[in-house]
Amino acid sequence: MISRRSLMSSAAVAAGAALTCMVVPRASKGAVPPISQADHEKYMRLAIAESAHTRNIPNAAVIVKPATGEVMARGINNSDYDPLLHGQLACVQDYIRRNGNREWDECVLYTISEPCTMCQSALVFAGIAGTVYGSSIEGVNRGGVENPRIRAKDIVEASSFYKGFIIGGILADETDKIFLERANRNK
Ligand SMILES: [Zn+2]
Repeated sequence: MISRRSLMSSAAVAAGAALTCMVVPRASKGAVPPISQADHEKYMRLAIAESAHTRNIPNAAVIVKPATGEVMARGINNSDYDPLLHGQLACVQDYIRRNGNREWDECVLYTISEPCTMCQSALVFAGIAGTVYGSSIEGVNRGGVENPRIRAKDIVEASSFYKGFIIGGILADETDKIFLERANRNK
């Protein structure tokens, strides 16, 4: 469903009908240019490609700098090893290793699934310019992955200090299929 607030966002308009949710206009000082739907999909395909390297839950993410198109970090789910290492947090840690704890406001995280409460909170605290995901929590759940039923946008909206954006549903047909196929394989 597209909320009325989503229609007020230029990023949401650019992203088109595939959106499932969108909140919070960007901070005016942000260093991220408008991102086209084609670029959203291009970056999401990088996250999808990362998910091929996962073993259990096929979650993965990349962090890109839209101004240059540079991939700043990659991450895949490794929660068998460490419960904190969801794909998104693994990507945050890779970003810090490679780039230091800085310039988050120039970067956007692309992930094949809606971030859980832990991961979205970390992204808020980092001050990342935006989060873009494919499958919703419901879509991931249909693929057999359990997350707290708290929407990532609710974390963003509850964080009045945070000015980043969140967009869902980019290439969701493809990302939903990844979770469903993995669930069927594990039966
Ligand atoms: Zn998570």
